[in-house]
Amino acid sequence: MTNKGILIVFSGPSGVGKGTVMKKFIDDKSLKLTFSISMTTRNIREGEQEGVNYFYVTKEEFENAIKEGKLLEYASFVGNYYGTPVDYVNKLLNEGRNVILEIETQGALQVMEKVPEALTIFLVPPSMKELERRIRGRKTESDEVIKARLNKAKEEMNLAGKYKYVVCNDDPDKAAKTISNIIKRSMG
Ligand code: 5GP
Repeated sequence: MTNKGILIVFSGPSGVGKGTVMKKFIDDKSLKLTFSISMTTRNIREGEQEGVNYFYVTKEEFENAIKEGKLLEYASFVGNYYGTPVDYVNKLLNEGRNVILEIETQGALQVMEKVPEALTIFLVPPSMKELERRIRGRKTESDEVIKARLNKAKEEMNLAGKYKYVVCNDDPDKAAKTISNIIKRSMG
């Protein structure tokens, strides 16, 4: 058990900049991080790659994975399923890697129950106004999806207090540095 890696849950509302911030610390070798690739039923977006951003599956395939107990957690988010394949995460943790799950709040709550020692970090925007501007600026989605994501973002913000750390993304470099420091401290 002593060489086991840390399970890290990283959440924040849509548009807060999780991807941008994560890119700035994920390649820091001293953090020994591996990004967990989730399964989703949502459509692949331009610029994304199968097996890199997600494993894109059908609803039926996803529901089979649930039935077979293959997911550490899962949630339905704006009409699609998202979930974390448990075997891959366990394998990496046993190899001593720190595994980062970039997941929404419902799934995060499941992980907090199952793995209370997980390091949980919530990224918040400098203001709700700024968040709305960022979500609306994402041109890849329909008005309807944008509206749903905005509502969901407000709901998710209410759960920030359940996380061990809340980090503000007023500046991505600064937020990334803060998160690196949190991880380093947890590694002991
Ligand atoms: P997106 O469609 O923008 O890639 O992701 C939508 C939301 O789903 C984001 O908040 C993201 O963190 C979350 N998400 C991605 N993968 C998973 C997962 O495996 N489980 C859960 N619960 N949420 C996920």
